[in-house]
Amino acid sequence: PPFRASIPGRLPARAPRGRRLFPERRARHPGAMPTPALRLAEWQRWRAELEARGRFDGAGSPFWSELLELSAGYRVRAHSPYSGLSLAALILGADGRLFAGVNVENASYGLTNCAERSAVFHAVSEGQQRFLLCFLQGQAPLPIPPCGACRQVLFEFAPDLWVISRGSQGQLACARLDRLLPGAMGAADLPRS
Ligand code: ZN
Repeated sequence: PPFRASIPGRLPARAPRGRRLFPERRARHPGAMPTPALRLAEWQRWRAELEARGRFDGAGSPFWSELLELSAGYRVRAHSPYSGLSLAALILGADGRLFAGVNVENASYGLTNCAERSAVFHAVSEGQQRFLLCFLQGQAPLPIPPCGACRQVLFEFAPDLWVISRGSQGQLACARLDRLLPGAMGAADLPRS
């Protein structure tokens, strides 16, 4: 059920002749940082493409450039002296705001918090509980999927959330949360008094 293998949004291994695979690497986006409204508009287009054709086509757009730039800046803030792996998560809220989180490890290993959950807690702390997209940028070559605990925490707020994970070499994996956590238990399963 692999996040990686079954993912529709994977980019081709090689760029088509005459085209760069990751044009956003060439330079920073020259324009202003996207507004919340522009992020939402671009996300609507990406999601339509993901759901209709199973592929991601946002590379090179201003919002995509912003995600790459912000996640690169956040990822190095991770506290990961034990695993040596750093991950940044950016959550797009329904109001177009972005909320960041990084993994925060602890000498008592079990207390470690993943980037995805850090971003969720950040968003909720800022008053946003409706999420559209969770973008992940790791330092490993392959895209890192959210762990089981993070899938459950994301499900609490956004059962139809899309997750786009990017590896250090630009490889993408995209999947909707209802496929990453089928049959999830949520608030609707709890008895109400
Ligand atoms: Zn996790």
